Amino acid sequence: MDVLAKFRALHVAWIRRFCQSSSSWTLFFKLFCLQFFGDDSSVVLADPAFYPYDLLPSFYSSVFRVWGLLGGHGAFPNLSFFKSGSVTSVDCLSVKLAYSCLCPLAVPHCVTKFRPLFGDLYWSSTWFQVHVMPFDRHVTDFSWLLAHGVVLTADRLRSSFRMSSVPPDCFCGASLETAGHLFFECLLAQSVLAWVQSLLTLAVPSAPSLCLRHVLFGFDIAESTVIPLVFSYLLNLAKHRMWLARNEFRFRNQLPSAVDVIAAIRSQASFVLKLWFPKCARRFFIKQWGASGVIASVFGDTVQFNF
Ligand SMILES: [Zn+2]
Repeated sequence: MDVLAKFRALHVAWIRRFCQSSSSWTLFFKLFCLQFFGDDSSVVLADPAFYPYDLLPSFYSSVFRVWGLLGGHGAFPNLSFFKSGSVTSVDCLSVKLAYSCLCPLAVPHCVTKFRPLFGDLYWSSTWFQVHVMPFDRHVTDFSWLLAHGVVLTADRLRSSFRMSSVPPDCFCGASLETAGHLFFECLLAQSVLAWVQSLLTLAVPSAPSLCLRHVLFGFDIAESTVIPLVFSYLLNLAKHRMWLARNEFRFRNQLPSAVDVIAAIRSQASFVLKLWFPKCARRFFIKQWGASGVIASVFGDTVQFNF
């Protein structure tokens, strides 16, 4: 997020309010414009570049500056601004829209962060897969954190937060617990991913071998067209369960077990998919969430799990 653009965008809410209401705060706005410029505020808003608005108190000055940056103009109250080169009515003006106009080239931090390691990724596909199962919020939130590279692994705690007292090693004995190690290279991860891979290959024989890219960012756009949605959810669930197992070791000294993690994934997926079933069209559920019988089959109004 571009903090400056966000801060500026918040000011435009006042322009819209000014055009749509005559509440008491507008009296001060008008008073200052008259006092400093000898013109009504509606006249100043029609051509902000003409007035030395920096003379005004800082809040009013900021409002005019943002309005000027948006190319604000027109006869009050039918003001307009520029959006992507076209004139748009102030009635449509929201903080979100102003942010997109003020910061059209904003690139999320994760895009630049992972580019040196993975090249240009398929972020729209990643975000879709992060939110693929709306009934499992914890899993979604954790996948979001992992795709942004902000999960608090020992490596991140020690390097980004300078917490040198955190033991750096993984429960498997590896010398540094990084996200790449914990969710892909670790023995636990390899066992869990091998189980997911066996189901995936059964459902889609042409499916790719799971690699670190799949674990962190999901399947790319071409892969997503042939791989049922349930595998994106299973991957997300696997990551979250591996993280919980890692925490059990960190905070309770209990060594993780791949058998327990897989059993937990199976149990949680079955529970959530049963709740999800009535929300989907039957054929869609069978194909995308049952993986045509590999994960689940449908008999009448009941779902039978096969994994
Ligand atoms: Zn490990």
